[in-house]
Amino acid sequence: MNNRDNKSLLIKSTDERFMRIAIDAAQIAEENGDVPIGAVIVYKNQIIGKAYNQREQLKDPTAHAEIIALTQAAEALQTWRLNGCTMYVTLEPCPMCAGALVLSRMDRLVFGCDDPKAGACGSLYDIVRDGRLNHRLEVTTGVLAEQCSKLLQNFFRKKRYNKTDLKNNSVDFPF
Ligand code: ZN
Repeated sequence: MNNRDNKSLLIKSTDERFMRIAIDAAQIAEENGDVPIGAVIVYKNQIIGKAYNQREQLKDPTAHAEIIALTQAAEALQTWRLNGCTMYVTLEPCPMCAGALVLSRMDRLVFGCDDPKAGACGSLYDIVRDGRLNHRLEVTTGVLAEQCSKLLQNFFRKKRYNKTDLKNNSVDFPF
């Protein structure tokens, strides 16, 4: 194996390690009735921000995992400039979060699964790599994508099921 292979293997295992931590955070969101999305910010191999979606819990439309993690990281570094940082997030960021990532001057974004309905990092828009803006991020996608999307699928499946229960006013388990 040559050095380049070694380096890319190392990046892959580091990415997966931090994505697993973002997945753990996403699971806390689900316990609170929020859509399970988790985010982690890493600086010099240290976690300086870790958050999960709290939109329902805080009743705040901006309480996305990425925004909360960005605020934590800025607090940790005592600056709004997050050069040298990487964000790991389970789902492709929306336009608000992609915009905030550009404003933070972060180096790199790693996300799990795509969001074809609202994603702004390659799906609907590509805000984080738009040459018209004054900062661009390096983007890696598809890290533990299956686990990240399973979390969401299971959440929405359960939600739909609960709704059906309410409508029929009966508890009829399919298993
Ligand atoms: Zn967002």
